[in-house]
Amino acid sequence: MTMKRPRGTADVTPGDIARWRYIEDIAREVCHLYGYGEIITPTMEDTELFRRTVGETTDIVEKEMYTFEDRSGRSLTLRPEGTAPTARMYLQENLYSVAQPVKLAYVGCPFFRYERPQAGRMREYHQFGVECFGSADAAVDAEVIALACDFLHRTGVDQLQLGVNSIGCPDCRNDYREALRDHFEPHLEQLCVDCQRRYEVNPLRLLDCKREECGDKAAGAPSMLQYLCGECAAHFAELREHLERFGLPHEVDQTLVRGLDYYTRTVFEITHHTLGAHDVVCGGGRYDGLVEVLGGDPTPAVGFGLGIERLLLILEEEEIELPSVPGLDCFIIYIGEDAKGAGLQLLQELRSEGISADTDYLERSVRAQMRFADRYPSRFAVLLGADELEAGVVTLRDMSDGSQQSVPRNELTAVLRDAVR
Ligand SMILES: [Zn+2]
Ligand SMILES: [Zn+2]
Repeated sequence: MTMKRPRGTADVTPGDIARWRYIEDIAREVCHLYGYGEIITPTMEDTELFRRTVGETTDIVEKEMYTFEDRSGRSLTLRPEGTAPTARMYLQENLYSVAQPVKLAYVGCPFFRYERPQAGRMREYHQFGVECFGSADAAVDAEVIALACDFLHRTGVDQLQLGVNSIGCPDCRNDYREALRDHFEPHLEQLCVDCQRRYEVNPLRLLDCKREECGDKAAGAPSMLQYLCGECAAHFAELREHLERFGLPHEVDQTLVRGLDYYTRTVFEITHHTLGAHDVVCGGGRYDGLVEVLGGDPTPAVGFGLGIERLLLILEEEEIELPSVPGLDCFIIYIGEDAKGAGLQLLQELRSEGISADTDYLERSVRAQMRFADRYPSRFAVLLGADELEAGVVTLRDMSDGSQQSVPRNELTAVLRDAVR
């Protein structure tokens, strides 16, 4: 039996990689423009990090984590999301002691969730995310949202829907929890098993259950916005003003609560119609309580995660033209064993000068080497046979029009360097 990759994972072949690099390059460019510094955190963390932060009652911790014991019995988890590891790093690397806010980004990092795989939903998936620690200013929430929209726009995607909501602070959310319980109580027995438990521990999550029987009951539920305390209401109004200022149209979506326990005040999602029911390409929000949960001082923070696979799906659906893998500068075709040695030497010379070059390793005929060079595709071919060797020249062939010229060997690098620039 041949080996297959695990379910819900993907291979990226050389033919696909240009699309990934395209997205990552734009992400890095936008982070630079907005002053976000790139970080890399470990792929695995202590399981406790996610239990404490993401929340015991969330789907992620309950059902979706890849958790295992290592050989000395530590419980480790392949990271299911990027915010908790970034907050852990903020504390561990003493980033609270430098000038605030601290603006961090991760680009194309892998994350892991045990879910039923489907289009745009993988068990190993990749995200671009940013996190900003140390400011409670609603302008930072707006900046983070603007960064996400700007990034998506630059990749070529439009017709995005931006939904925003506020889920308040722990003070105002308590009253809202009670109001939600009152609303759902008459329907309690018709809710799914998960929601019956959520009713007790985290009734906000009743609003984002994806099951139809629960969605129906959520209709007409009271809105968090009516329960916001003065400060939370002002923060949300400010955010909306800034979004207007940045020319970012948005809708207030009162069912938007995000699945994670650590969110406070701002939550937002960017959706695209081509993704269907699971149409979220980017989600984020403010999490002012998270750093404290990890043992740090109270630290306001806000960020988002954006799914690379989902974005690729949108780009494909919208038939947005993506760059392909660049071809080769020069293919060296040799005739005979003596020419092979000289050809290999030339190959390394060209590469050391920054000219991409390759040659034949299967002892093909000259005609087959020519075809290979054409299919590569290569801009130029260099022909090297006994005659050329003796005369100290090479035959340089322009593959686009088939024109050929004789070039002294010691001038080839310079000629090619000019031609490919
Ligand atoms: Zn509040
Ligand atoms: Zn439910």
